[in-house]
Amino acid sequence: MVDNTNLGSNFIDDINFLYKPKQAFQKKQVSTLFAGTGYYVESSRPETVKLTVEEMAAHMKRELQDGCDGSSIKCGVIGEVGCSWPLLPSEKRALQAAAQVNVDIGCPVIIHPGRDDKAPQEIVRVYQEAGGKVDKLIMSHLDRTFLSEDKLVEFAALGCYCEFDLFGIELTHYQQKESVDMPGDATRIKSIKSLINSGYEDKITISQDIHTKHRMMKYGGHGFSHILLNIIPKMLKRGISQEQIDKITKVNPQKWLAY
Ligand SMILES: [Zn+2]
Repeated sequence: MVDNTNLGSNFIDDINFLYKPKQAFQKKQVSTLFAGTGYYVESSRPETVKLTVEEMAAHMKRELQDGCDGSSIKCGVIGEVGCSWPLLPSEKRALQAAAQVNVDIGCPVIIHPGRDDKAPQEIVRVYQEAGGKVDKLIMSHLDRTFLSEDKLVEFAALGCYCEFDLFGIELTHYQQKESVDMPGDATRIKSIKSLINSGYEDKITISQDIHTKHRMMKYGGHGFSHILLNIIPKMLKRGISQEQIDKITKVNPQKWLAY
């Protein structure tokens, strides 16, 4: 499980808040938690907008290699690197810094793209121009970013992992961008199938992006087991094989995380 604990998207400033659930999860052998370092969208972190690429890279490297917030807990990934649309100057520097750290130590990087179908491609270009390698890159939230399968498949050719991470979200009104008709889980599975049919089963990851209380079981939501309980059986019914599901849920994330 990857938790976005980077600057701007963390709700609690102290990394130790991860420590308790981490112990609980690991005791029950439910999951391994990975903390994220880096910089979310500019509007969420006004105190860091003036930082240079070098300063950002040094901070992320420290959190990945030494530990963060004065603890010995090391982050496992960079991300989500937050990008608005249009891309803002400090977000561009955060992308370039993430690319630099990726070149230095080969760590995984995950990116939150701006809400426009031109955003993911521009981000990959900025990232690659700064030296970053796409084989360690996940572009998240593609379910709300590409509303046409043609554009999705065209993007997949760039070589990064394509992530569908809003499983469980079924909305008719998408507050953050009203022009988007947010797809539901059935459409997400259809999009994944079209990527598989185009030869990209080694480049797909999925997730649930649970960031609000009401999506947890205790408050009436699907909970963290939604993909395992409901989505995988549906994928099998829709003709995605167990081997392809294993790639999407195990092999691909393992390859992305290892460095
Ligand atoms: Zn995000």
